Amino acid sequence: MNLIEHFVGGKIIPGSSENKGKVFNPATGEQEKEVRLASKNDLDQAVLIAKKAFESWSIKPSLQRARIMFKFKELIEKNSDELTKLIVSEHGKVYEDAKGSLTRGLEVVEFACGIPHLLKGEFSENVGTDVDSWSMRQPLGVVAGVTPFNFPAMVPMWMFPIAIACGNTFILKPSEKDPSCAIRLAELLTEAGLPNGVFNVVNGDKEAVDAILSNKDIKAVSFVGSTPIAKYIYENSAKNEKRVQALGGAKNHLVVMPDCDLDGAVNGLMGAAYGSAGERCMAQSVAVAVGDIGDELVSRLSKKAEALKVGPGMDKNSEMGPLITKQHLEKVKSYVDLGVKEGAKLVVDGRNLRLQGYENGFYIGGCLFDNVTKDMRIYKEEIFGPVLSVVRAKTFEEASKLINDHEYGNGVSIYTRDGDAGRTFASKIQVGMVGINVPIPVPMAFHSFGGWKRSIFGDSAMHGMEGIKFYTKLKTITSRWPSGIRSNAEFVMPTMK
Ligand code: NAD
Repeated sequence: MNLIEHFVGGKIIPGSSENKGKVFNPATGEQEKEVRLASKNDLDQAVLIAKKAFESWSIKPSLQRARIMFKFKELIEKNSDELTKLIVSEHGKVYEDAKGSLTRGLEVVEFACGIPHLLKGEFSENVGTDVDSWSMRQPLGVVAGVTPFNFPAMVPMWMFPIAIACGNTFILKPSEKDPSCAIRLAELLTEAGLPNGVFNVVNGDKEAVDAILSNKDIKAVSFVGSTPIAKYIYENSAKNEKRVQALGGAKNHLVVMPDCDLDGAVNGLMGAAYGSAGERCMAQSVAVAVGDIGDELVSRLSKKAEALKVGPGMDKNSEMGPLITKQHLEKVKSYVDLGVKEGAKLVVDGRNLRLQGYENGFYIGGCLFDNVTKDMRIYKEEIFGPVLSVVRAKTFEEASKLINDHEYGNGVSIYTRDGDAGRTFASKIQVGMVGINVPIPVPMAFHSFGGWKRSIFGDSAMHGMEGIKFYTKLKTITSRWPSGIRSNAEFVMPTMK
């Protein structure tokens, strides 16, 4: 069986641990590969290599680092079909969706190509008589990223292009459920001319993550995953004196106002709720129907949810692929069971979907609940599957309160033709990423991605200027070049003269 190893110091290396994880093809349900799970020692060895590489990488002119990014961009474009197929084969999402996610990662590489400009500091002449002051941002050292299964290319690419362009060296611990894409990206970086040891992939599970958290040479940790683990990463990184950004789970709402373009809202909801089988942190899993639009909304959604084309990700006709694992499939089904028990109305039931020829794949059809209320667990908890809940709200204010009271605050959208409602929503809603007549408001690479409330721990979002700040530390210099007379010792706080 194909064994996925680590990539350290510019090459594939076997780990010392005998522990291995299973990698499935979700479309068929077959285990196709194994992945080596790193020991603490494996991780520590990789960090030593990254620490050594930092010495020369961090002092390379930023223009040279940018040129490697340009080359890497070209290589991703050239190899996009192969990378996309890797995503589909281990994650299960449909080909075009996987390709789109790779493009969103590529956009961060394009942003990082501008690193000489992005790292320009500030300068003030004559802050005191003949005294100048300037600031610059310098890399941190070895930094690490721990990433989830649902975007095996894009989420790591939110992190490492910026981190290494800033002059850091990087240890990526990808999800053990779909690790191949990270290894291929590492190979392409090497082909692009990245010196050995600057970007390393260490595969593993909790043991590898804990080794990252306790390693004193790792200066910062970027994490994306579920909320309980994000909190754990945040607390333990801080305890070990590391800078940390930890993005967690979500429960995103799409508000459907009675005046909206209903076709637009329904189509937006279909893609946002069921795309990638709901395994997106920006999936819209709650539709809030305001006023009297609920019945018509549910009627239109149910027709489309019933007609969803579910199938293998490589089948061009599929709109939605399987879930990541059998265990996750069981979890999503159990949430649908729970919703029925809690008294929500199951309008479309995808639990019994069987696909001829793919009986062992991890499929579930789209599910739609109506009359979901705020006390139900299916409303409060992240399901991370193709399950859309419709909640009814009498007014815009009631809809907004529902959202503001929710523990998560990743993404949110409103569909309306009323500019006043749209503007008030954008201003008052307690959520980090807001869409107005846009179903999935994922910020572009040159803006920054991050939710609020329990969807993020730490105060820094990812990529854009937030990324540049996270991966660098600020140094401010105050300088004077006195000619002739030397000043006497001064024992008072210096002030501007
Ligand atoms: P997860 O939290 O189970 O795993 C994420 C990473 O943490 C993996 O690399 C995994 O190996 C590691 N990990 C798992 N358990 C651990 C433990 N006990 N100790 C230390 N490390 C551990 O998440 P997942 O199932 O891979 O991904 C889905 C989750 O990620 C969802 O909650 C989704 O909302 C979230 N997500 C959030 C964003 C965002 O930007 N906010 C983006 C993508 C995914």
